[in-house]
Amino acid sequence: MIRLSKPDLGDEELAAATEVLRSGMLVQGEHCARFEIELAEYLGVLSVIVVSSGTAALHLSLIAAGIGPGDAVVVPDFTFPSTANVVELVGARPMFADVDPSSFNLTPASLEKVIAEWNGSENIRAVMPVHQFGCPADMSSIMGIARQHDLVVIEDAACALGTAHDGVRIGGHGDCACFSFHPRKIITTGEGGAVATNDANFARRLRQLRNHGIERRESGLDFVSSGLNYRMTDFQAAIGRVQLGKVEEYIERRRSLQRIYQSRLAPTSIDLPRVIDGHNWQTYMAVLPDEINRDEMIRLFRDKGIEANLGAYAIHELEYYRLKYPRDCARLADSHASRLYHQGLALPLHPCMTDSDVHEVSDALIEITSGAKV
Ligand SMILES: *Cc1c(COP(=O)(O)O)cnc(C)c1O
Repeated sequence: MIRLSKPDLGDEELAAATEVLRSGMLVQGEHCARFEIELAEYLGVLSVIVVSSGTAALHLSLIAAGIGPGDAVVVPDFTFPSTANVVELVGARPMFADVDPSSFNLTPASLEKVIAEWNGSENIRAVMPVHQFGCPADMSSIMGIARQHDLVVIEDAACALGTAHDGVRIGGHGDCACFSFHPRKIITTGEGGAVATNDANFARRLRQLRNHGIERRESGLDFVSSGLNYRMTDFQAAIGRVQLGKVEEYIERRRSLQRIYQSRLAPTSIDLPRVIDGHNWQTYMAVLPDEINRDEMIRLFRDKGIEANLGAYAIHELEYYRLKYPRDCARLADSHASRLYHQGLALPLHPCMTDSDVHEVSDALIEITSGAKV
């Protein structure tokens, strides 16, 4: 079976985790502190706060930014649902913006459009650009619009570790950037995540909220806010530190596999993702012509021993959002996000794949799409 995605874990990760387990010191400790410093150095930011998942990173960032009831937050319509879910969880209202059909990202134009057309009673307070599948969003333009409207910018960089925009790694473009270390992402700690920021005060609030609202005062510990427990365990951080040492190698390999897909599939009628400088290729999603049934395609691939899947979701088509915001969702019926949700096909891409695996997947895709009706 050629897997869609597979983490690369070996003896080094095993040894690092074992050492922590033997020490008996399991919760956030020395390895978390070092992982944060090493991530900050890699990303070129002031502070990194490691947490229990990418979703925890996003949730904590919204809380730390003081976003809640009465506020509205722009999210791209095409993403993994947690981007929108965390907005709901803090009691704010998500505003759905359509995405670009070939980068799959929020565009400056669609951000401006949802702001201009907004007639809700909530105040637009923030925007959450997603670097979809590791493709860098146009942060220079998005930051310009955000500053003009006084919006907090929380980047959903779950897939974008090592991705760069204008030659600068994602992490310090917005007010903060949230990463995930789920096994599907660029490096993994099992579950895990991190927030990167250049704002020292914001970093302090994140650290406090991650750890039950605890602050160390001269008089001792006190609980100064109603925080959460979103800490990472130390054996996860130990694994993460080993993985971080291989991140550039992983990205190089991904880019090289992506180039094979791109050249093999270029002559077909399949829409390929736009190649943008700095992309880390966390996911390679092709978009099938409308006459091809994507879900049937996934089944045919499985019969050939290849795992493929949908790429991401059109948030406005999901039950929770359809029922809660019927008018907002109806307006997005013909969005690019809808087409990408229904016709997008994520193909296997991970550093453990060989070149010939990519040729095999490409051959299968060409054979199925050119031959019989699917
Ligand atoms: C994976 C992902 C998340 C969630 O990360 P977890 O670590 O699984 O919580 C959020 N947003 C996007 C765009 C993702 O791809």
